[in-house]
Order: sequence, then C-alpha cells, then structure tokens
Amino acid sequence: MGRVLAIANQKGGVGKTTTAVNLASSIAAAEVNTLLVDCDPQSNTTSGLGLVKDPERINTYHLLMGMAAADQALQKTELEQLWLIPAHKNLIGANLELVDAERREFRLRDALAPLRERFRYVVLDCPPALDLLTLNALVAADAVLIPMQAEYFALEGISELLDTIERIRSGFNPELTVEGVVLTMFDDRTNLAQQVTAELSRYFGEKLCKTTIPRNVRLAEAPSHGKPALLYDVRSRGAESYIKLAKEILERSGVVQEMQGETSELVDEKQVVNAPRWKRWITERNRLITMNIQDR
Ligand code: ATP
Ligand code: MG
Repeated sequence: MGRVLAIANQKGGVGKTTTAVNLASSIAAAEVNTLLVDCDPQSNTTSGLGLVKDPERINTYHLLMGMAAADQALQKTELEQLWLIPAHKNLIGANLELVDAERREFRLRDALAPLRERFRYVVLDCPPALDLLTLNALVAADAVLIPMQAEYFALEGISELLDTIERIRSGFNPELTVEGVVLTMFDDRTNLAQQVTAELSRYFGEKLCKTTIPRNVRLAEAPSHGKPALLYDVRSRGAESYIKLAKEILERSGVVQEMQGETSELVDEKQVVNAPRWKRWITERNRLITMNIQDR
C-alpha cells in the first residue's frame, strides 16, 4: 500500500512546490515508484516538470469532478520511476463546483485509491489556501509535510494549519499525521535563523526535520528548464539537500527499512555495481550517479 504525503502550508511562496517536485524526484531516483499530484490551479508543479499548458489534457480537475479515472491522467516524466498527475488553471473551478457535491471532501482520496497499489509514494502539492482543494489533499493523505521559512512570524498561521489538520482528523481522516516540518530557503549564518530554529525545535520537537533546505539558485532555476534539480544540477546544494530530505522522510515512514528487506534478496544482482549503493540512476547525459541513501 502506497504512502500519501501532502505538502501543505496555506502561506504562499514558502517552498511547497519546490519541495513537492524535488522530494518526489529524489524518492523516485531512489528506485521507489512515485506519483506526484498537482493539486494547485497555479500548476507550478506541472510546468516545473516541463509540461506545457493544455486545458484538454486530463488533470486533477477531471479526477475531482469524477470525469476521468486517475490512471487516465498519468503522465510520464524524465525520471523513469516518477509519474505526474498534472493540474490546469481550470482546477480553480472545482472549489465552487464541488460545494454541494456528494462526498466533496473525499473526491481525491476516492480517485487515487486505485493507484495506491501501483505507487509506493504519492506526493500531493497543495495550493496556498485552506480551501476545498487542500482539504481534499489532506483527506487523501496519510501524512502532511509542512515547508516553512525560518522567519520571525513563522509560527503565525501554522496554528491555523494545525487546527485544520486536527479537524480533518476528527471529521474525515483519523489516520492523518504530521510527517514533519522542513525549513526551506534556510540560511543558518543569520542569528535570526538560529533563534527561530531553536524556537521551532522546542515547539515541534522530533517533527522538525533534521535536514534543512538552503537558499540555492539552482532550485529556483530548474523549473524554468522543466526539470527537477537533480536532473538540472545534481551536484548543487539544493539538489543534494532534497536527496538528504528524501532519505530522512523514507526512514521516518519506514520505507528504507522495508526496501532493505527487499534489497537483501537482490544483493547478488547488485554486487556487480557495488552492493551497498542500492540507489542508482542515469541522467540524460548518461552520467552514472549513485545515491547512497543509507550513508548520507
Ligand atoms: P505557492 O504558495 O505560490 O504555491 P510555494 O509554497 O509552492 O508557492 P515555491 O513555488 O516552491 O513556493 O517557491 C516560491 C519561490 O521561491 C519560487 O520562485 C521558487 O523557485 C523559490 N524557491 C523555493 N525554494 C527555494 C530555495 N531553497 N532556494 C531558492 N529559491 C527557492
Ligand atoms: Mg506552489
């Protein structure tokens, strides 16, 4: 059964899409079948992976409205094990059109249910609002990852998100948990960042991810090339930090441990290529890159 992770924060521009695209890509690069679902009418995840705007293409809107099945919406990406369900700006209409609909909060959960066997990880990129789209994502999810910037007012607004999560838990999805909080566009050289981090660490405890994502221009450039950072510049600090975050998230959710069980059966096959390095992928330039998730 696949694990569904929603990337949510109603605050705009905190790095949700950058996190969704690069985390999903890093998980897929670790040979985990991964589906990325764009739940935001801004469609930044869709364009960030190089898909041009096309209102005719089946997208998240059609799934929510019951007009298409999820497998009809799947798009391949440059990474073999990453698939995308795109969005289009027409998705904004779903917020209104679903208001009186039956099971309006469960539309995404119901639509994705048939794909849960096929993908081990499903990552949902949410819009910057606590609207019906985010609600659908949180009802469909097993866990929420909250990207945040280490700012003075960082905690303001988070309480509203945590209240919403609590309400969803009691009303629609009792299994929903907070996977973690990840600091984005982080600069640990400033005193402010260190103070805010200490505060967040007191508040969130173990939930604050050890991995932080630095401000890195490669992460901002990659979407304009239609690529995740690891295909644009795998050696950049941005790409590396998301690979590290993927490792942390996979470990938290027990997927690394599960895969270690499985890979032990595959050791013979992999000994040829250095057994402990069980994550490998080839970029479009045919450069072989290995990602040793266990050692990072
Ligand atoms: P929205 O709320 O509008 O959906 P978002 O939370 O999805 O926004 P992003 O689109 O991921 O945020 O990021 C906002 C902007 O900051 C983008 O231009 C993105 O390229 C840039 N950005 C995000 N993370 C980083 C980073 N670590 N380093 C540099 N730039 C970043
Ligand atoms: Mg976004």
